[in-house]
Amino acid sequence: MSTVATITVPKSGKQIKLPTGLFINNQFVPSVDGKETIDCINPATEEVICSVVAATTKDIDVAVAAAREAFNTTWGKHVSGIERARLLNKLADLMERDAQELAELEALDNGKPLRIARDFDVGDSVGCLRYYAGWADKIVGQSIEIDNKTKFAFTKHEPIGVCGQIIPWNYPIMMWAWKVAPALACGCTIVMKPSENTPLSALKLSELIVEAGFPPGVVNTVPSLGSVGGAALAAHRDVDKVAFTGSTLTGRKIMAAAAESNLKKVSLELGGKSPQLIFESADLDQAANWAALGILYNTGQDCTAGSRVYVQDSIYDKFVALLVTKAKQLNVGDGFDEATTAGPVVSKAQYDKIWSYIDAGKQEGAQCILGGEKRPGKGYFVDPTIFTHITPDMKIVKDEIFGPVLSVGRFSTEEEAIKLANNTTYGLGAGLHSNDANQCMRVSSALEAGTVWVNQYNLLYNNVPFGGKKQSGIGRELGSYALEEYTSVKAVQWNYGEKLDWPL
Ligand code: NAD
Repeated sequence: MSTVATITVPKSGKQIKLPTGLFINNQFVPSVDGKETIDCINPATEEVICSVVAATTKDIDVAVAAAREAFNTTWGKHVSGIERARLLNKLADLMERDAQELAELEALDNGKPLRIARDFDVGDSVGCLRYYAGWADKIVGQSIEIDNKTKFAFTKHEPIGVCGQIIPWNYPIMMWAWKVAPALACGCTIVMKPSENTPLSALKLSELIVEAGFPPGVVNTVPSLGSVGGAALAAHRDVDKVAFTGSTLTGRKIMAAAAESNLKKVSLELGGKSPQLIFESADLDQAANWAALGILYNTGQDCTAGSRVYVQDSIYDKFVALLVTKAKQLNVGDGFDEATTAGPVVSKAQYDKIWSYIDAGKQEGAQCILGGEKRPGKGYFVDPTIFTHITPDMKIVKDEIFGPVLSVGRFSTEEEAIKLANNTTYGLGAGLHSNDANQCMRVSSALEAGTVWVNQYNLLYNNVPFGGKKQSGIGRELGSYALEEYTSVKAVQWNYGEKLDWPL
């Protein structure tokens, strides 16, 4: 196959030339032993955009060897923090320069609205690179006094080594930035496996890695099926750390593979079934806006999607009516139409999964008060769907759907609300809306989640840590906390005076 695809951008007709090979040692190359390719599908039209080379297990070996060589020779302990910062800032500048093209590839491959891809996905990712560029020369250890006379110790935070990074399809550029930026800031080298559903932006970013001036092998990109390239990375004996974002099911497999191979360090950002609690003192109009954003942003394909909303009895009818009004204002359509505020879901598999849950909700006796009807024609479109009259054992209430499908329940007391919210195996996000400050403090303490949003929802910042409790994950991304995921602490103990009497 050709190693450069010509991609035509809808509406503008602009053509993008994109290398489609594996990116290893700063070059786009064919697979060493495979002929498999991955078709990239535009979810709004169901048409093939282009095909990219799929990495085999042997290609993963080649990429890991390149990353190891770079770690041992040009990166790792061989590059200063100041230089890492310079390169990260340069990469951020290039991403900013090419924001439109990156957004076009993202909107085509994932389906999300072009404007949102450019302003939020690319914009926040540029910010993430700059944030970690700021950290690159500030990764320092401690000086520890032992006895003030003869001994002291100090710690060094050393780069952990070669990192396998496996990312999902819902925010391909942002998940790339969240993983690549802290790893490079710490001095690690990377083998990045983007999702087979959305590899295009990672290939474009690989071109920018070369242009920014990173040495060969520091970042390598290997599109592949999860069960092939992802599994090989997780089980690789020369990978020191695997960072994963994806489903809880896959996270379990990755942890098992890491344990069985070389006990590599693991961080997992997994799924969720996040609750939002609406108390009677809340600003109901604002709470309805945040609740709508919580379930409908990115067409519900969000790990922190606020997919269970519980409303206090006294305001239930009024709030549900407001929420339906807000949800109806969403404009689901082709991401290249200016008026679109939410695109299709990413793939046929995801579309079928969401509809199986909508059917299950109806069969299990929940009341569908909005949506729940398929559209005719092409494209994986799902309109906002709201269920009421739910019970805790229903599949739509227990399982992560990863689509614009909301379950709305009710409560009478704060204790009941907390119990309902925490009644899940997940613990990623949670929201509460109330104008009673004491209540906000009590409830935010009681909610079992890595992030609790008070009178807002789903906002993330590069300097605030993000991650899950319970089965939503292990470790933290963003903020200074992410640096711990990519460093290994070495304690150096120094004797400058004590004489050892031997034998003891
Ligand atoms: P997924 O688990 O199917 O795939 C995620 C990645 O893992 C892909 O790159 C895939 O190719 C790879 N993979 C699949 N099987 C593998 C295996 N056996 N070994 C190694 N890698 C494998 O998830 P998805 O459908 O791409 O993404 C949706 C899921 O991601 C949802 O559950 C969502 O909640 C979660 N997610 C979590 C966060 C977070 O930060 N917590 C963010 C985004 C998405």
